[in-house]
Amino acid sequence: MPARTGAEFLQGLKEAQAEVWIRGERVDDVTSHKSLQGCARSLASLYDMQHDPQLKSEMTYESPTTEDPVGLSFLVPRSTEDLEKRRAMMTNWARSSCGMMGRSPDFLNVVITAWGTAGEFFARNRPEFQKNVEDYYVYARENDLTLTHTLLNFQKSRRAGVIDNIDEQIALTIVKETDAGVVVKGSRLLATLGPLSDEIAVYPTRTHMVGEEAWRQSFAFAIPCNTPGMKFLCRESVDHGRSSFDHPLGSRFEEMDSIVIFDNVLVPWERMFLLGDVEICNTYGAQTGYTLHTGHQVTTRNVAKTEFMLGLASLMVKTLGSGDIDVNQQRVAEMIVYLEVTKACLRAAEADAFENKWGVTCPDPAPLNAARQLFAETLYPRMVEIVQLLGSSSLMALPTEADFETVLSPDVSRYLATDTATARDRAKLFHLAWDAACSAFGGRQLLYERYFAGDPVRNAMLMYSSYDSGPLVDRVKEFLDWEE
Ligand SMILES: Cc1cc2nc3c(=O)[nH]c(=O)nc-3n(C[C@H](O)[C@H](O)[C@H](O)COP(=O)(O)OP(=O)(O)OC[C@H]3O[C@@H](n4cnc5c(N)ncnc54)[C@H](O)[C@@H]3O)c2cc1C
Repeated sequence: MPARTGAEFLQGLKEAQAEVWIRGERVDDVTSHKSLQGCARSLASLYDMQHDPQLKSEMTYESPTTEDPVGLSFLVPRSTEDLEKRRAMMTNWARSSCGMMGRSPDFLNVVITAWGTAGEFFARNRPEFQKNVEDYYVYARENDLTLTHTLLNFQKSRRAGVIDNIDEQIALTIVKETDAGVVVKGSRLLATLGPLSDEIAVYPTRTHMVGEEAWRQSFAFAIPCNTPGMKFLCRESVDHGRSSFDHPLGSRFEEMDSIVIFDNVLVPWERMFLLGDVEICNTYGAQTGYTLHTGHQVTTRNVAKTEFMLGLASLMVKTLGSGDIDVNQQRVAEMIVYLEVTKACLRAAEADAFENKWGVTCPDPAPLNAARQLFAETLYPRMVEIVQLLGSSSLMALPTEADFETVLSPDVSRYLATDTATARDRAKLFHLAWDAACSAFGGRQLLYERYFAGDPVRNAMLMYSSYDSGPLVDRVKEFLDWEE
């Protein structure tokens, strides 16, 4: 099947009827539910971009099996040019959501693609898993799937080793093997976009190694979200069903986060990629190389998001006439620095790309890890703060769209206009700034950027232990030994 259209994506979700719960209510149709429909429409528009005559050649490539056009984020990169092509495609998707949709389907498409190239790694666990993972990559590509993923277990206790204790566990765990497949039971957090995805990938993460005895929690698989026994429990929505004037981001890009409950879920054998091998489980990311490709996708999106935040800040000072104030110029300039640094890291990662043992061209992880860590801990929180500092009371002196339709409208129009903007244009812009930096949507964005790729403290610890600072230490020692 060629790259999907938006209508095909929505129809797929409608028919699947996965078990989704939100605010005590079972959702009949996620595509028309008031808390989810805005994002469903935005996702559909991403798929439609694949058929836009102006963009088609940037968004798709020829399927090696059917010769139909398929989504370009499924491309196996074999050169730096391939990485650049993939970046151009991902940029189109990221810009269309102002960088606010972390889970546009390319995020997981690049993961599944990396797995599909590393079949021999999976065969080390069980020979048949190589075919499973290679087939799954082709299946995902040819059916243009939207995936969610879940990597972490709840932690009832922080005591070391509790995950190994099968009686106490609440973690997702292998219950038994049958002729049809493997039965799993337990819970996972979180699955962002879970309610709006076709399938869920469940696999290990490098930030949470499993213990030596935890073979029952060592696995990787992917199954449809409507598999019997699987339930998605949503948090409260940040799409309040308001107009795109009042909530320009929340009404469009609420990619819901959900807890996933697996109630004796049968994973068919052909969807099993890893089972019961702790060592393979703990080297999964490094061996398949998937994290390099998510790093490429995430940094591409971070560039688009920084471009948006810089554009927003620039328009805010222009609208308020506060661009001549030196401290505001300094704040906007700070964002320019962030953008250029993030772009430079992305380009450096492509320029220093290397071929991994599976013959795949991978971006250099060093600048990508640096850019991701910086964005999560410093750049994004600071950009949100700058929008708050530039906006100040204008983020609160904010009539809604309805207020322009009342008898107050002439007053509102008179008192809120600035030298460069009508009251309506000002209100529209500052609703956008508020949604980016102050609303529930904005708060969730900040939390997402801080944590979605793992806790920054653990990530820093990994960087500390894996970075080769030996030659730098030697140079310092040489200097200390320098005697004149
Ligand atoms: C909006 C959002 C969306 C997400 N989406 C997904 C998703 O789609 N799929 C998915 O699998 N996960 C998702 N996550 C989960 C994400 O991977 C985790 O939040 C992240 O790994 C941190 O784990 P935690 O939340 O359990 O934090 P905790 O482990 O509870 O840590 C809380 C704090 O304690 C500190 N801490 C705890 N233990 C240690 C330790 N051993 N060493 C050092 N510091 C420690 C950390 O610094 C952290 O600040 C999402 C998270 C958020 C917030």
